Amino acid sequence: MEKTLIILKPGTLQRGLVGQVVDRFQRKGLKIAGIKMMQLDDNILREHYAHLVDRPFFPTLLASMKATPVIVMCLEGKDAVEVVRAMTGATNCRKAAPGTIRGDFGMSGQENIIHASDSVENGQIEVKRFFADNEIFSYSLLVQPATYGPDECL
Ligand code: UDP
Ligand code: MG
Repeated sequence: MEKTLIILKPGTLQRGLVGQVVDRFQRKGLKIAGIKMMQLDDNILREHYAHLVDRPFFPTLLASMKATPVIVMCLEGKDAVEVVRAMTGATNCRKAAPGTIRGDFGMSGQENIIHASDSVENGQIEVKRFFADNEIFSYSLLVQPATYGPDECL
């Protein structure tokens, strides 16, 4: 099944929203294949946000993402990348639709609660960036037959 990479950003830890964000993903039916806390540094952030290094806000983005440890998650499910991006909402929380994570929990364009992979290819790259192979677990959820039809979970 498809995998995607989520980062619960430092502001999410500061604001006590970790449980509510993780709860949304579990209630949706996504499987947690990996989860851990880690301190990000300039090296991993310059790689992860390579598309933004020349933008004027990059220094404040770096500082924000290093302010405290983060929680990284690998979620698994059918079409997980697209499903999680839809649950995440628009980059700017003030423009994100109500019902999305950013729309419900944030007020900022920078402090926008979570990162979520934006394509299947980037999901694969990002899971490898943040997790060692032995930190990603393969196991069966007993509720899978109630979560998916038989043709959906191949
Ligand atoms: N960001 C920002 N200002 C902007 C655009 C992006 O501070 O004008 C930050 C924000 O935290 C965002 C991250 O940079 O989540 C990565 O930007 P991207 O365009 O990849 O947005 P995302 O994929 O997170 O929605
Ligand atoms: Mg992005």
